[in-house]
Formats: sequence, structure tokens, C-alpha cells
Amino acid sequence: MKELSVEKLHVSIGDQEIVRGLSLRVPRGEVHALMGPNGSGKSTLAKVLAGHPDYRVTSGKVLMDGEDLLELEPDERARRGLFLAFQYPSEVPGVTIANFLRAAMQSRLPEGEELEATDYYAKLYEKMELLGMDRSFTSRAVNEGFSGGEKKRTEILQLAMLEPKYAVLDETDSGLDIDALKTVAHGVNSLRGPDLGILLITHYQRLLNYIIPDYVHVMVAGRMVRSGRKELALELEERGYDWAREGAVEPAFTR
Ligand code: ADP
Ligand code: MG
Repeated sequence: MKELSVEKLHVSIGDQEIVRGLSLRVPRGEVHALMGPNGSGKSTLAKVLAGHPDYRVTSGKVLMDGEDLLELEPDERARRGLFLAFQYPSEVPGVTIANFLRAAMQSRLPEGEELEATDYYAKLYEKMELLGMDRSFTSRAVNEGFSGGEKKRTEILQLAMLEPKYAVLDETDSGLDIDALKTVAHGVNSLRGPDLGILLITHYQRLLNYIIPDYVHVMVAGRMVRSGRKELALELEERGYDWAREGAVEPAFTR
């Protein structure tokens, strides 16, 4: 039961159904890639997991280690150990990365408990070492004038510091330059291990040349059309999404 599980999930935006009966399980300790063409509903799934108010779950369940995630407020989900990569503010002028991360960690602590500065910096530098990051990076203001790679570095460092049980990384379809891609890959590969389940959402097979997932899932039009081991990503790159859709293991367009 140590898994993030999505069961027959249906999600609507306004009166349009975007996710249409999606099921997926990510056990702790595994890396699952979720792929699919643009508009298939990948980011919608991520936003539902985050608790975004615009997305209406009409039926289905999401459980984290057996607990109903959809009943929890977004900040409570984070406190219980769910991390979503797009959750940091896009730009925080004047707030350094070090202070931003410290506030993020402090907010995860029970009321009245203080994060000790020395402990915090010890951990920060330990994680930066693990990730091969330069210490001077943390004195920069969050995302101010950052390159794609630097934004990703902030995100991965945040992931390392918060030590969640599950991380959902929604890699947007544009803007992953090679530097950003390598940062994400190196980060994920350094942080993967028995205590962390990762759902890596990506449009591109290319990222999976650097991060070898345990499982690959393909989502088309709000449903899972294929699931398999890492080879599925290669097959997909060769044959395209039409192939995945046509050869769907489960009927893709019936309920
Ligand atoms: P993906 O991440 O797989 O490219 P999305 O989840 O972003 O797909 O989008 C799935 C569908 O939902 C698309 O048709 C998109 O236009 C629609 N959609 C997503 N977010 C919204 C929104 N906030 N309002 C209206 N439609 C949306
Ligand atoms: Mg998307």
C-alpha cells in the first residue's frame, strides 16, 4: 500500500471532461514516466494531484499510502509527503533561494517547531553536494532572470530538501533546453531510491534517454492506452502515438 494510486479518475474543466477513467499506480521506490501527446490531460492530472481548484473530479479516487488525497487541502498534501514540481512561485524578487527553501521547509513543520539554522544549512550543503551544485547558487533571488536550467536546479534542490514520499514532475512540453534536461535527469537519478516514488510527466522520449524509468505509461485523450517497461518509450518514439492509440491494450475509446 506504499503507493500513489489513481483509480478510474474522471476530471472535468467547466463542462468538458478531460481525464476519462484514468488508473495508475506509482509505488515508493519506482520511477514511472507518463507520456502522451499534447492535450491528452497529463498536466490536468498533475494539477488535480496538487489540488488545483479549477479542476473538478467527477469520479474516481486518488490514494497516497492508502489515504484519500482528494480530501486533503493542497498544503496538507504537501505536508504528508507529496511534491509537485510546479508548486514554487514563478519569480520571487529579492528572496534568495536559501531563504525560500528554508521557508518551504519551515512550513512543513508542526506548529511551534523551529527549523534550526545550522541544521538547515548543513542539510542544504549536503544536498547541493549530492546534486553537484555550486553553493553560490543559493544566494540568487528565486527565478529572477533564471535560465530554464537554473529554474530546474531550484526545483530539484527543493525536491531534495523536502524529501517527499512522492514527487510529480510535470515537464512542460516546451522550454527544456539541454542544460535543464540534464539538471532534471541528474537530479532525479541522484534522488531516486527506496523511499521516493516519482511520476515523471513528459511529452518527449528524449528525457528518458537520461532517466531510465521503471515503467512507462502512455496517455491519450484522457485515458491510459499502454503501460510497459522502459522499452515502451523507445517503441513509442519509433512508431508514434497513433500506434499506441490503435494498439491500445484496453479499449481506448469505450468506458
Ligand atoms: P497535456 O499536459 O497532456 O498536454 P493538458 O492537461 O494540459 O494536456 O490539457 C488537456 C486538455 O484540457 C486540453 O484540451 C486543454 O485545452 C484542456 N485544458 C487544460 N487546462 C484547461 C483550463 N484551465 N481551461 C480549459 N481547458 C483546459
Ligand atoms: Mg502538459
